Amino acid sequence: MSSSDQPSVRLRPEIVALPAYRQGKAAETSAFKLSSNENPFGPLPGVIDAVAAETAFNRYPDATALALREKLATLYARSVDEVHIGSGSVAILAQLILAAAGPGDEVVYPWRSFEAYPSLVTVAGATSVQVPNRADHGHDLTAMAAAITDRTRVVIVCTPNNPTGNIVTADEFDAFMASVPSDLLVILDEAYCEFVTEPGAVTGPPLLTRYPNLVVLRTFSKAYGLAGLRVGYALGPVGILDAARSTAIPLSVTGQGAAAAIASLDEQAALMERVGVLAARRDDVWRELTAQGWQIPQPHGNFLWLPTGAHTASVAEQLGAAGLIVRAFHPEGIRISIGEAEAMEKLLQISKEIVNALPTTSSTRQLS
Ligand SMILES: *Cc1c(COP(=O)(O)O)cnc(C)c1O
Repeated sequence: MSSSDQPSVRLRPEIVALPAYRQGKAAETSAFKLSSNENPFGPLPGVIDAVAAETAFNRYPDATALALREKLATLYARSVDEVHIGSGSVAILAQLILAAAGPGDEVVYPWRSFEAYPSLVTVAGATSVQVPNRADHGHDLTAMAAAITDRTRVVIVCTPNNPTGNIVTADEFDAFMASVPSDLLVILDEAYCEFVTEPGAVTGPPLLTRYPNLVVLRTFSKAYGLAGLRVGYALGPVGILDAARSTAIPLSVTGQGAAAAIASLDEQAALMERVGVLAARRDDVWRELTAQGWQIPQPHGNFLWLPTGAHTASVAEQLGAAGLIVRAFHPEGIRISIGEAEAMEKLLQISKEIVNALPTTSSTRQLS
């Protein structure tokens, strides 16, 4: 912030200090936008018609998106009140943190993880406790459990983890849940769950019966390709979701977004086909990068993580110059979304040269 941007009114200093949200860079027309984990496929069949049929723009939407909740409740065999819809799952994350944590309270989450977590915690007035990932870039659940104190109100587990792509296994998650207090809210952020092909990975919904302190977050933004319409959902106990409803800004989910989500749920076969294409593309790119000499964690979402460390800026620049817009997290690494096949070909054409130019001491480069 330059001095001319200094606010002229008294604002909360911790809010003024927050970095303003920066969107994944917009792509030039010739470039590929691989910076926001968006789906390269357009909406599923029937979705555009369903949205076009929602023409009552002069009316407020149904405040609780009941039709969509009913559909999801049936899908997951929960009651309708055990489903809560938000304008993106990030909105529900904000609601849950606001509902559970205020000044003096702590929110424990892994780091590096989803870049929205720190600011949502700060906005709630609570304090972030970031627990570094393991050397393999996965959550250190033992250290996360050890970081819990009597001030902790929320713990966030993100699987597959954005941006590193690691999953938490079902066994790891059970051991973690057994080691945390049962009155502590645990949020399982499963924004990328549809892309997971690993059999041992944790899946949240079946665990809701076992853990009354668990809320599972899912979204239509990634696998369903509806990022622009802003629809996410939470599954969890009614009492916790009611608290989220109480902190929510009313009427944030549009009728068009809800209609698109409902129509998408009717297209499971087409969804699974697209997800399968993207997951196979992801696995192919990962194998090829590994063969080129990259040392990167196995990806389980629709993105890859290059732990480029001190070389992050220069590698991101080289990728950008080749027309690939990626998300760089200095000085840790680069997240690249699985996009169009052509974009992935482009990536593999230049990635070999890039890895060969990295110093042999770099941990991103395999010892040959
Ligand atoms: C993209 C993402 C979300 C949610 O996105 P919405 O568009 O708000 O539903 C949540 N968590 C993680 C880790 C994400 O990457």
